[in-house]
Amino acid sequence: MSVNELLAQLAPIGLTEGGGYRRFSWTSVDTDLRRWFVDQAEARQLRVVKDRNANLWAYNGDPGLGEVIAVGSHLDSVTDGGAFDGPLGVASAFAALDLIDRQGLRPQRPIAVVAFTEEEGARFGVPCLGSRLLTGAIDPDRARALIDATGVSVERAMTEAGEDPTQLGADPSLLARLHTYVELHIEQGRGLIDLGRPVAIGSEIWPHGRWRLDFLGTADHAGTTRMQDRDDPMATFAATVLRVLDAARSDGTRATFGRVQVTPNSTNAIPSRVTAWLDARAATEQALESVVASVVSEVTITAESVTHRVEFDQDLRDRLAALLGGVPVLSTAAGHDAGVLSEAGVSTAMLFVRNPTGVSHSPREHATAEDCIVGAESLARVLTDLGGFQ
Ligand SMILES: [Zn+2]
Repeated sequence: MSVNELLAQLAPIGLTEGGGYRRFSWTSVDTDLRRWFVDQAEARQLRVVKDRNANLWAYNGDPGLGEVIAVGSHLDSVTDGGAFDGPLGVASAFAALDLIDRQGLRPQRPIAVVAFTEEEGARFGVPCLGSRLLTGAIDPDRARALIDATGVSVERAMTEAGEDPTQLGADPSLLARLHTYVELHIEQGRGLIDLGRPVAIGSEIWPHGRWRLDFLGTADHAGTTRMQDRDDPMATFAATVLRVLDAARSDGTRATFGRVQVTPNSTNAIPSRVTAWLDARAATEQALESVVASVVSEVTITAESVTHRVEFDQDLRDRLAALLGGVPVLSTAAGHDAGVLSEAGVSTAMLFVRNPTGVSHSPREHATAEDCIVGAESLARVLTDLGGFQ
């Protein structure tokens, strides 16, 4: 099947009236996405294994032999996200296997198509949760206790979805069998538009993280409390946002406040608390620290996740560049499971497919059918080489 046919099958799942996707972990939409994955695997006689962290692996060959070559991405989305971020990588992986199969080739090493769990962190706040658990980058107790916006924990959400949260945790034997991971992804910027090219190879992921900021004050009446008598955390919050965004602008880093909770969240009450989340990314660790340091000191700041700079395997990158005939090499400020696996010592690479809007995490995110095919064909060439298909 072509990558575009596979994407068309996924298109209705989790689509909202506004045209964006809400594909949150351990919901009925997630169940539908997982069923689609299993159906695709079974249609290709691949053996599906759900690991202890609910990541899905579809194996062609015996993973017990080791040196597994994995390709894939994730199926979950941000709130009102686009159709390509994640699913393009999984659909391209199945399509690449089909392209190779049509040539009558068989792999010399076990191949896996993978879909990682909760990559976006849209429901429980920590991105790349499935791969972080797999590599031991997050403590399973902390993961089980994460809560969504309605107060439901990972533990409860998994249990209600029929999963076993007691199994969560590092899986060194799976990791030891994994030789290489290649993740194809929609580009989340304008690099390929400017270069006029359909596909690029990833070089590195900028250091990035998420911080929770708690601004505390005193709730009081909006009418009877004089301005000079107020202890209003909204004022500190607003000043902080402007200062951090200014710091990011002058440093060439990225800072975003995309999520805020106000207590009691009432029009006629001074808030007692404002909780906001800062997403910050920078080309260097030092620049990242400096943008976070621009938050004022009277605020409680908690790092929820911090990911160091990741440079993808140089030899693998060179091998892909030679295979694909000098495609451009781009860095990215977006986090990916490939970055988490790279930090855990897995040889990883990424392929980016042009996004003609340059917009991601939005319904405006796009890839043309032609570029999706170029992406899947590129992945097939990479997989043929790495998997020793003959
Ligand atoms: Zn993604």
